[in-house]
Amino acid sequence: MTETFYRVHWADCPPLTADNAWSALWGATRTADGTQTQCVPCDGTGKDATDPVCRSCDGERCAICDHTGYSSQCQTCDGEGVIDCERGYSCFTDPKSLIAYFTDPGHAVEISPDDHVIAFEGTHQGLGFDGEDLAIPTRILQETTWTEFLTLHNLAVTNW
Ligand SMILES: [Zn+2]
Ligand SMILES: [Zn+2]
Repeated sequence: MTETFYRVHWADCPPLTADNAWSALWGATRTADGTQTQCVPCDGTGKDATDPVCRSCDGERCAICDHTGYSSQCQTCDGEGVIDCERGYSCFTDPKSLIAYFTDPGHAVEISPDDHVIAFEGTHQGLGFDGEDLAIPTRILQETTWTEFLTLHNLAVTNW
C-alpha cells in the first residue's frame, strides 16, 4: 500500500531515492555504502575496552570468553565494529506530527527556515531506532522549505 510521508531532508544528505533510503542512529558515522554505521560504543573496533563480564556465562567462565569470565567483544555490535542501518527513511505520516517534533523545545535537532521538507509517496517499513516511522520512497510529491511547509499547512509557528 502506498502512503504519503513527510520528512525533513537535510541539505547534506544524498538525494531522496529508494536506493539511499537507509536510516541510522543520529550522529553515527556511515560506512562507504551508507548501509551501515560505525559502532559508537566501541568506535568501530568491535572491542569493548571496559572488559565487561561475559554475557554467555555471567562471569562463570566459558569457552566464549576463553575461560576468563570477561569478554572484550563489544556487545552493541557483537564485535563487528559496524551496525546495520534500518531500511527506509525516518519520516512522519502527517505534517502535524513532523511540525510538532521539530518545534518541541526539548528536542536537540535544530531546523532552520531554509531546510527542506519533502512529501513523498512510499511504502511503510516499520519503526526505526527511535520508534519513528520508516518508509522507502516511490515518488516525490512536493519539496518545500521549512517556512513554506509551515505556511502550507497553516501551522506557522509563533514561538520562535
Ligand atoms: Zn563466558
Ligand atoms: Zn561495537
